[in-house]
Amino acid sequence: MIRPKTEEEIALMRENGILVSRTLAEVGKLVAPGVTTLELNRVAETFIRDHGAVPSFLGYDGFPAALCISVNDVVVHGFPSDYVLRDGDIVSVDCGTFYKGYNGDSAYTFPVGEVDADARRLLDVTKESLYRGIAAAVAGNRIGDIGHAVQSYAESFGFSVVRELEGHGIGKKMHESPGVPNYGRKGQGIRLVDGMTICIEPMINAGAKDVYLAGNGWAVHTADHSRAAHFELTVVVRKGQAELLSTFDFIEKDVKF
Ligand code: MG
Ligand code: MG
Repeated sequence: MIRPKTEEEIALMRENGILVSRTLAEVGKLVAPGVTTLELNRVAETFIRDHGAVPSFLGYDGFPAALCISVNDVVVHGFPSDYVLRDGDIVSVDCGTFYKGYNGDSAYTFPVGEVDADARRLLDVTKESLYRGIAAAVAGNRIGDIGHAVQSYAESFGFSVVRELEGHGIGKKMHESPGVPNYGRKGQGIRLVDGMTICIEPMINAGAKDVYLAGNGWAVHTADHSRAAHFELTVVVRKGQAELLSTFDFIEKDVKF
């Protein structure tokens, strides 16, 4: 059974959503050619701790950092490293916070310097596929409606959906039921209920859908070494329209909080 969250719980998760969103915006200000991914990680960890929260990824199943940073053909779960970002890279930054007993989780793929038109389209389509998925995350729909919305949009541009990884419920634990696949059939799967909190996170490859796991046991690469993008938001299922708990507005609109 998946227990919908109470409004008190959702209020605490909203605080996490804002913090994780602001952390991604802090990282985004630094993304540029010449910066190492370890520098991005350090800034994020400091920002999270300065706000009295804990970076939830650090130590999760032994993960060594506050952020997952995944460049170009790395889909997700890349380790921050001394890799120096280069003009034309795309870099996915996935961030989790633990604050007041609840979790926040969001990801954004940033262009580094000037990216080519194919990369720009991959980023735009992946982000829009996330919003299409969110539009389907309404009470009374089913989990497959979300995946169908993501998949049908992304594939209409010739891109492919990674099957091995998916979104998830979120709350006191970072990963709760249900799994939220980025592919699926309309009307299939569990029914969505008002108050369910889920992370929707399309992982979209420019080439084929196949992936492999790196030797470190974490980083997921595209098998054909095409580029991949990843965007994630935490939402509450509501009647009529999902409510966003995290947002890209701090990144894209430079809003103040
Ligand atoms: Mg995430
Ligand atoms: Mg997630």
